Amino acid sequence: MDKNWRQTYLRALPGVDAVVTAVKKAVGPVYPHRLLVKPVQRKIDELRRRILQAEDADGLKELDTSPATIAAQVKQELAGISRPSLRRVINATGTVLHTNLGRAQLAQAAVMAIEEAAGYCNLELDLASGQRGSRHTHVEKLLELLTGAEAACVVNNNAAAVLMALNTLAAGKKVVVSRGELVEIGGSFRIPEVMKASGAQLVEVGTTNKTKISDYQQAIDEETALLLKVHTSNYRVVGFTESVDVAELTKIAHEANIPVMEDLGSGLLLDLSAFGLEKEPLVGERLAAGVDVLTLSGDKLLGGPQAGIILGKRRFIEQIKKNQLLRAMRPDKVTLAALEATLRVYLLGEPLREIPVLAMLTMPPATLKRRAEALAEKLKEQTQNLEIAVREDVSFVGGGAMPLTRLPTYVVALRPRHQPLAVWVEKLRLGEPSLVGRVQEDWLLLDPRTIAEAEEEEVVKCLM
Ligand SMILES: *Cc1c(COP(=O)(O)O)cnc(C)c1O
Repeated sequence: MDKNWRQTYLRALPGVDAVVTAVKKAVGPVYPHRLLVKPVQRKIDELRRRILQAEDADGLKELDTSPATIAAQVKQELAGISRPSLRRVINATGTVLHTNLGRAQLAQAAVMAIEEAAGYCNLELDLASGQRGSRHTHVEKLLELLTGAEAACVVNNNAAAVLMALNTLAAGKKVVVSRGELVEIGGSFRIPEVMKASGAQLVEVGTTNKTKISDYQQAIDEETALLLKVHTSNYRVVGFTESVDVAELTKIAHEANIPVMEDLGSGLLLDLSAFGLEKEPLVGERLAAGVDVLTLSGDKLLGGPQAGIILGKRRFIEQIKKNQLLRAMRPDKVTLAALEATLRVYLLGEPLREIPVLAMLTMPPATLKRRAEALAEKLKEQTQNLEIAVREDVSFVGGGAMPLTRLPTYVVALRPRHQPLAVWVEKLRLGEPSLVGRVQEDWLLLDPRTIAEAEEEEVVKCLM
């Protein structure tokens, strides 16, 4: 190469038009012209920069500036636009409330309700009177019937529910919380930070492992607006510990004329301890114990859409509904439709069968064993390329709920014979549909607990 190597390379760069033409030839008439120019320009600019920054000609030996090569790169980039970014994933991890995979899988009834509500619906029209209605009415009655709450209000998620309740009931005043309950939930929800954002002042009492009723009593003064209890959803303080029972807490709060709020996190409506799950506080029990305002998530153990549910005494809920901030956090029609349908299953249907989260959490080990063995058999019939075994293992609840629960399960353990495991796992993840399992010591584990029975055929296809 002559000493003007840099000029030679720069002169060899194709023009934008030539590359655009090459892209059109490669992809056909799929994309409008205006969508092609920018990415082509960007690729050429990038090549020019590399030429200008190269130390010597050797550094550019591999550089391919042909229109066809640039066109191929642009084609790949464009494929990302035409394919949905949000795609279906078959969850074979066994983690039921998988945060990265969208937490709760919705009930069939909820899916149908979403479709119904997607067009026009009576979101804010009272059909009986023809007058303007409130979007909150669609779920309020159901929530009251299911939990015994006097009133209810729904927002976008539980973080918003906590923020709304604190802002309404305690802005500019003090809120007393146990040091053992200053939780952080994944995705940076931290009680002290939420408290600050709400305008309330945090008063910490007790120690990390022990908080006594006298700690709360001593902290109460004329500026105290609220005693807050936070469920330690995703961790447990074990050993030498003490915390105050809600019934006791509401007793001293009510004597001082102060309400008690509890952030319950997961909203469990049914006791699942008979199925080997940790004993979790039930929504109805907490309200019966005297909690004045209770907040919970729609898409954790409740098994519904992402939502924050605020339940409690009517006068507090009414105050929250009058707060201007509510407008910024109100749920849309699709969420309300899914939530209403989910709640109706609890009230009128068979929740353990129809709410996927509950069905998965309570699936008997014998069923899991049968399903794992059937899947393994099918795979053995269809391929020689995999090592296949069925093993006992455990599934997790996930979503920051019941952190100690290990649900006995059976998994199909797979290992490709002719390619590295990591390469195969990536291929499955990028497939259509995407299949995500659990990688453990050179094996890919598929847990039938979180695979719908209707997905089993597809799983086999994905693995071929
Ligand atoms: C999960 C959780 C939250 C946050 O709920 P989102 O619905 O995810 O906003 C808040 N508090 C507790 C105790 C939780 O477990």
